Amino acid sequence: MNEIAKNKPVMVSGATGYVAGWIVKKLLDEGFTVHAAVRDPENREKLKYLSSLAEHAPGSIAYFKADLLDDGSYAKAMDGCEVVFHTASPFCLNVKDPQKELIEPARLGTRNVLEQANRTESVKRVVLTSSCAAIYGDNADLEKTANGVFTEDDWNVTSSLAHHPYSYSKTLAEKEAWKICGEQRRWDLVVINPSLVIGPGINPKGTSESFNLIRQFGDGSMKSGAPNWGMGVVDVRDLADAHFRAAFTPSAKGRHIISGHNTDFPSMAKPLIAHFGSAYPFPKKTLPKWLVWLVAPMVNAGMTRKMVARNVNHPWRADNSKSIRELGVQYRPLEASMVDFFQQMIDAGTVAPGKK
Ligand code: NAP
Repeated sequence: MNEIAKNKPVMVSGATGYVAGWIVKKLLDEGFTVHAAVRDPENREKLKYLSSLAEHAPGSIAYFKADLLDDGSYAKAMDGCEVVFHTASPFCLNVKDPQKELIEPARLGTRNVLEQANRTESVKRVVLTSSCAAIYGDNADLEKTANGVFTEDDWNVTSSLAHHPYSYSKTLAEKEAWKICGEQRRWDLVVINPSLVIGPGINPKGTSESFNLIRQFGDGSMKSGAPNWGMGVVDVRDLADAHFRAAFTPSAKGRHIISGHNTDFPSMAKPLIAHFGSAYPFPKKTLPKWLVWLVAPMVNAGMTRKMVARNVNHPWRADNSKSIRELGVQYRPLEASMVDFFQQMIDAGTVAPGKK
């Protein structure tokens, strides 16, 4: 890829989102003009965090109205941009109609944004926020990998509309992106595959599922204990840096697992207990799998026994070495991400001591 000009604007879809917030900050700090594509540019309350970042940075921000399901709506935002960050996609685990709420915005939205890149002569590179959810479906899938670790060569083949529909939506969307990219030669595609993203948000009251999940460690939901559910996590600030490097490293190509730590729920609770002590009902025990299997569907509508069977007491392991070797990503300690994130929730008043 040719060098990207620093004096050209860059577009970020879903700029109001948790992951995008730190990408926008990084771009503004580096002096870029950010074309922020958002659903509602009139919503000053929601945009105030991004506007405030721009006030204190060398770069500038302009808002453009765009919707994943509105064909052609990214035209103005993309005009004149050489780099497009496509982060927008619904991240929610409890949905009534997965086809409408997840699959359509993810897949049709990716098609909408990338077909606009086809029509916009200035575009040279698209950085797509996919997910590790497009690499694996359940932790049990680890047993089917070549070397007992998830790599960029793996694809999620076990999720469906009925089983992990969010993961299915991310898999279909990334496949769609590779297909559209392969049909042209002007722009290249660099894919970022993050594991669970944690760490403080630019908007302290973010609505990403990441907030709901980490809040549950201290709101009483896990007071009896945590399931031994293996997972990967990455700090949102490190993830923004990875996106930036993916955009501006000319040699960057293909997929990139962006995951700082192979961990599990009980290990994620430890830094919270060490830092905040007993002020919050953190999980201190590991729940037996049979108990999780029995009660999970009753306490969480989005959780099935099949999910418990295929994830609890199964480790999660991914190889993040490509991100370190080819993008130069550095990962901060898990403790810092958990403690900073939870502290932000305390300060924002979104988690109350001892109360669910
Ligand atoms: P988020 O805070 O909910 O952000 C999602 C963004 O997508 C929001 O800006 C939202 O806009 C936008 N969006 C949703 N539906 C849209 C539509 N129909 N048209 C236009 N924009 C729409 O979630 P996030 O965690 O930052 O997720 C961002 C990306 O990272 C997603 O692609 C997600 O799959 C990926 N990811 C997240 C994680 C994680 O753990 N958080 C892990 C791996 C990958 P509004 O503000 O208007 O709602």
